[in-house]
Amino acid sequence: MSAQLLDGKILAKNLKEDLCTEIVGLKSKTGKAPVVVNIMIGDDHAACAYAKSQQKVAEYIGIDYRLNILGKDITEDNLSKHIKELNSNPKINGIMVHKPVPKQINHQTVSNRIDMVKDLEGVNVGNVGKMLLGQTNIIPCTPAAVMEHIKSTKIDLRGKEVVVVGHSEIVGKPLSLLLLQEMATVTVCHVATSEAGKLVDHIARADVLIVAVGKAGLIKGDWIKQGAVVIDVGINQVGSKIVGDVEFDVAKKKAAFITPVPGGVGPVTVVMLMKNAIEAFKCQLKDG
Ligand code: NDP
Repeated sequence: MSAQLLDGKILAKNLKEDLCTEIVGLKSKTGKAPVVVNIMIGDDHAACAYAKSQQKVAEYIGIDYRLNILGKDITEDNLSKHIKELNSNPKINGIMVHKPVPKQINHQTVSNRIDMVKDLEGVNVGNVGKMLLGQTNIIPCTPAAVMEHIKSTKIDLRGKEVVVVGHSEIVGKPLSLLLLQEMATVTVCHVATSEAGKLVDHIARADVLIVAVGKAGLIKGDWIKQGAVVIDVGINQVGSKIVGDVEFDVAKKKAAFITPVPGGVGPVTVVMLMKNAIEAFKCQLKDG
């Protein structure tokens, strides 16, 4: 038996169509569409390429996406002033600061300067707090993409053993909160779990396994529980190939569902950014 592939391109396409419909409705009601600004510092080639792919998705959906490229020597103060101007501009609905940022800038500090209702990536400390309380629809994009993949399998998370490997601020931690909201029994593993030699035991129990580490082949295919859902967030360059954190060829023989890398979580993550743009826009309609 081979696992059913959770194709991120197909899921992203379906989600994009839903967002297009929502934008048409919002435009006919308000005469406006969301306007978002991505602040990029310096013109790193890979970051520019990623921004272009975001722009393409935004334009397809009907969102006005603007790229503000600032000089790589900008200070945190000047960047904060720029964010303040965007915060007070009623024509701008969403703001994000593209990663990576140069070393004089702390990404969390400047993200906290973004108005909470314009926080496109859901990384402002206020939105993180609201997420803990289940009080916001602006959710960090990668965890939101993982949840969409799980939703597409139609499994009910209530009471399921879900194991998350990786506890970063942008993936593992927020994801564990979203899973808890669905009443899953959540175990979060990290480097110390591996050091203690316990990773295999936790993974053997996982009805749903999500891995976000960034180490190719960290998770051996034969560790996976028969019939599990496996979501591989990891992106690793190995020679000329991009691979995930899970040993895919073996894992797919045991799992019921598995995401490929590339083409799994990545394409859906970009769409989730646009979903946040729409949520931010709707929030501002309510407020204003
Ligand atoms: P971080 O480096 O911030 O976090 C990695 C996590 O993995 C940490 O919590 C770390 O624990 C843990 N870890 C490290 N080594 C081990 C180990 N041997 N066993 C168990 N856990 C371990 O990475 P990100 O969360 O930012 O990204 C993770 C991966 O996901 C990367 O490959 C990244 O490229 C990819 N990614 C993909 C996205 C997509 O859209 N598809 C979006 C974002 C990220 P500790 O901190 O304790 O060391």
